[in-house]
Amino acid sequence: MKKLLTRHGLLALGLGALLGQALADEKVLNIYSARHYQADEALYDDFTRQTGIKINRIEGKAHELLERIKNEGQNSPADIFLTVDAASLAVADAWGIFAPVKSSVLESRIPAHLRTDKWFGFSMRARLIIYNKRKLTAEQVASYESLAAPTLKGLYCSTPGGHVYNLTLAASQIAHRGEAETEQWLSGLVANLARSPRGGDTDQIKAVASGECGVAVSNSYYLVRMLVSERVEDRNLMKRLGIVWPNQANYGTHINISGAGIVKHTRNREAAQRFLEYLASDSAQRYFANGNNEWPVVSHVTVDNEGLAEIGREKTDAIPLQQIALKLPVAQKMLDRVGYR
Ligand code: FE
Repeated sequence: MKKLLTRHGLLALGLGALLGQALADEKVLNIYSARHYQADEALYDDFTRQTGIKINRIEGKAHELLERIKNEGQNSPADIFLTVDAASLAVADAWGIFAPVKSSVLESRIPAHLRTDKWFGFSMRARLIIYNKRKLTAEQVASYESLAAPTLKGLYCSTPGGHVYNLTLAASQIAHRGEAETEQWLSGLVANLARSPRGGDTDQIKAVASGECGVAVSNSYYLVRMLVSERVEDRNLMKRLGIVWPNQANYGTHINISGAGIVKHTRNREAAQRFLEYLASDSAQRYFANGNNEWPVVSHVTVDNEGLAEIGREKTDAIPLQQIALKLPVAQKMLDRVGYR
């Protein structure tokens, strides 16, 4: 009996060891994500189905996640950092968080201006101008530059200057027009404010519709969300707005991305790259973009989205996001200097 027990004990031990090994072999990718859309869930499940690699998502605000990765250092369990806006990706890069990625799949599928050697855009949003049709015409607000015209005094509304969407737009202006002109432009925007900058893009949409403001800028997906909203008041409110794709006469409308990169200290290098390549696949592109009413970055992939169809698609800026990213620190100082808070 004693012998048997020992035998069983040994057997149990053996099984335990095997089980432990299996757990260690079970691949799990830790994705630190500042993108929180319900639809992304289905995408992660699909990746697991295809590859057997599980996804563990750690959610937070971009700057909190970045601080966390930095503090965790070499021990960071983070494999992927996923976020919205090139500005946050640029900060991650500047902090040395990303590893370079060499992938023919990513290089062939993602347009060159929407990626660097470390981070990659997987969906695209445009920064559009919205105006109150009773106060202004499309011709008056045809470009970002026009928003600073003295004729628009007391009509412009905005999110706070430090908001990443403003920051990236300002940086893109510096990349196109240089520092002096951009600073003048930003001063002009501040001079045209209808109220002190506050709220997010949706607050600006509502304020323009109500007539409290005449004009503002908004990311495209907030507009689409309102256009296809189940609430009739949202749809009615959109009827009072005109939507402009700015700068069609020159460099095209400013765009930004949702994107990701591989964290330098990952112990799952291969799986992490597989995940990025998966995000560039046709089906994932559709899900990832449509989940937040954005456009896929892979050019032949289309989404079936009523709201996106309604706002159309005009010429977008082809300047490499990396060039814009380089101007971000200057843009931040400039926004502070002109009192855009
Ligand atoms: Fe947003």
